[in-house]
Amino acid sequence: MASRANQRVLLGCALLCAAALPCADSTRLKAAESPPQPSVAAANFPVASAARLAGDGKQTRFILDIDQAVTFRAVTLADPYRVVVDVPQVSFQLPAGTGSGGRGLVKAFRYGLVMPGGSRIVFDLTGPAKIANSYVLEAANGQPARLVLELEEVDRAAFVPSLTPENRPELRPAIADPPPATTVPASAAPDAGQQKADGRAVVVIDPGHGGIDNGTQSGGESEKNLVLAFGLALRDRLEKTGKYRVVMTRDDDTFIPLNDRVKVARGLKAALFVSIHADALPRAEGDAQGATIYTLSDKASDAEAQRLADAENRADAIAGFNLAEEPTDVADILIDLTQRETRTFSSRFARLLMGEMKSTVRMHKHPLKSAGFRVLKAPDVPSVLVEIGYVSNKGDLEHLVSEGWRSRAVGSMAQAIDGFLAKRMATAGPSTGPSN
Ligand SMILES: [Zn+2]
Repeated sequence: MASRANQRVLLGCALLCAAALPCADSTRLKAAESPPQPSVAAANFPVASAARLAGDGKQTRFILDIDQAVTFRAVTLADPYRVVVDVPQVSFQLPAGTGSGGRGLVKAFRYGLVMPGGSRIVFDLTGPAKIANSYVLEAANGQPARLVLELEEVDRAAFVPSLTPENRPELRPAIADPPPATTVPASAAPDAGQQKADGRAVVVIDPGHGGIDNGTQSGGESEKNLVLAFGLALRDRLEKTGKYRVVMTRDDDTFIPLNDRVKVARGLKAALFVSIHADALPRAEGDAQGATIYTLSDKASDAEAQRLADAENRADAIAGFNLAEEPTDVADILIDLTQRETRTFSSRFARLLMGEMKSTVRMHKHPLKSAGFRVLKAPDVPSVLVEIGYVSNKGDLEHLVSEGWRSRAVGSMAQAIDGFLAKRMATAGPSTGPSN
């Protein structure tokens, strides 16, 4: 059984890799220096071709077929109970629907990019469990290489100690700070000289979700793809005017944690942050349609806004990040004043946007709402989140995939941005100050 020894070597390697991860700074540097990554299809990433679950509620085994052995690390997370497996970038070519159903200790699982060069598999568990064993088998006897994970049921008391800070691995991707090099050019880093060289107002467009996080789904369409197409079209429209510097929080299928999206806007002293999403209503809750514009508030304007904010704020958990791990870097009393002013500007923009959009886009019956969206929390950047429609509604979905509709919707959004920024620039006067 020569492969036993191989397993040990590989597992050892995986552990070494995990041990090396605290020095994520070197990875981060590399990410910042290297030119934009080639598109996913262009590179020769390992291909995962099948995944299956076996076992029961006491012991559950996960097996991933892959065309070459990879290193990995696996950890457990609580609240909710999850297992996260990080691997180098993998091209997942699994049958549609893989992971939507569970077995034994696994409720469901999902997979995808979490950062350039890094993929992840996240398992939602039915309860606390430990990783009893994990290894990679090299291809042998006509079998492909396999990544194997063996989970065992434990009680919460046995589970929690594995989450103490000492042995909880660093799960933040290398892209956390500064913003990802693939999306934001190095010159976009906060830099006073650069800001002056290009005095144009910065507009940040934030297509929701991405990578491992599909967002809402219906009829074979994923929110992450629809909002990316919309965001890119809006970018192109705005860039054509030459008036703004437009920065995307993501311009490909990569997951970006919520806080990092906010950081992009803050780091660039953006004049406006627009997050793009597409909602879905659970089938049991009837039908809803039309676009809705959300601003930040401590108290949700209604139950649906609360439900939506909860769902959107779950993005990091879906991608296998721990929630609330990041202390807010804002601890200034002055922030309060800034924040109030920012909220006024956000509301003003939201109203302007509604005025423009309603002429081209079907709007929700209550199109202006507010709730505690984490992605809208930059204290100094006017921010709105637009749900451009419901993927769960047949008519809306037809719009969302239509290029003609997208072009019209993007046109009115660009019009509103123009109106808002023209007024702000006029109020702020000619750009004599470094940051106004
Ligand atoms: Zn969303």
